[in-house]
Amino acid sequence: MLKRFPFSPILGWSVSRFDTFSFCKRKYYYTYYGKFDREFPIAKITQLKNLTTEALSIGSLAHDVIEAILKRLQKSTDVIDETRMKGFVKAQVQKYMLDKVFSEVYYKEREEIDEAYIIDSVFKAVMIFVKSERFEWIRQLPDTSKQQWIIEPDGYGETRIKTDRGDLKAYCKVDFMLPDGKDIYILDWKTGKADEFKHRKQLIGYSLFASFHFENKFDRIIPILAYLKDGYSEVVPQISEMDIENFKSDMIGDIRAMQNMNVDIENNTPVAKNEFTLTESEGKCKYCEFRELCGRN
Ligand code: SF4
Repeated sequence: MLKRFPFSPILGWSVSRFDTFSFCKRKYYYTYYGKFDREFPIAKITQLKNLTTEALSIGSLAHDVIEAILKRLQKSTDVIDETRMKGFVKAQVQKYMLDKVFSEVYYKEREEIDEAYIIDSVFKAVMIFVKSERFEWIRQLPDTSKQQWIIEPDGYGETRIKTDRGDLKAYCKVDFMLPDGKDIYILDWKTGKADEFKHRKQLIGYSLFASFHFENKFDRIIPILAYLKDGYSEVVPQISEMDIENFKSDMIGDIRAMQNMNVDIENNTPVAKNEFTLTESEGKCKYCEFRELCGRN
């Protein structure tokens, strides 16, 4: 069982929050402080924030289908029928697309999204996993392990990272944690291309997440990146004490930088919007969901 925390408004660190902050301060403002904006209605900001892309959709749907497969595995180890799986993927994609607006269509880069391409891509990623040795290993784990699996836990992965500045609030959303004896494995599916630096940082976060939530319950925490693009491959990074210390000191610096944009740190109230400057690298704007608001579309 994961620990729970009472609500606190202070900002929490996450890889994606700091990525957005580093990408563009104005994008960071619209993503996290839209309700403070007086220039545009919150409904417009939320609509843009909720835009998806083809690549994001493929990743999200592959996660959803793998979650369903793992939940099924907890009850049955029967072989997965490919035709039925394709039907299941198709139904999931069609349901997902009913209420999603794609950035590519919204910004008129394309007339429509190719549903068949998304179905094929999700199915391919899922079957790469299902045919992997890792899947077979998971399938054969004993019931004692299966009963303890934590699959796409609810919420945003809130945790605390213990540092010499105290326990800092952070979010590390894990895909799948499975205990096996005195070890706990953390698996993170990736349908996009490998980005070892960024993904390694995520995995260190996951390790700290597990050590906080399961204090001393396991001898070893083994985080694994599982890549599902163009064949199955894994990265199992060795994480040293030095990596963890560096991670924590980077995190403290990231939090300090983000809190510099707070007028009230405890309540996470932002400074004035004009201090969240537009990126000078206008090339980045063509990938940004908020470009309509900045007049950069
Ligand atoms: S369009 Fe460009 S300047 Fe505006 S929020 Fe996005 S990245 Fe920043």
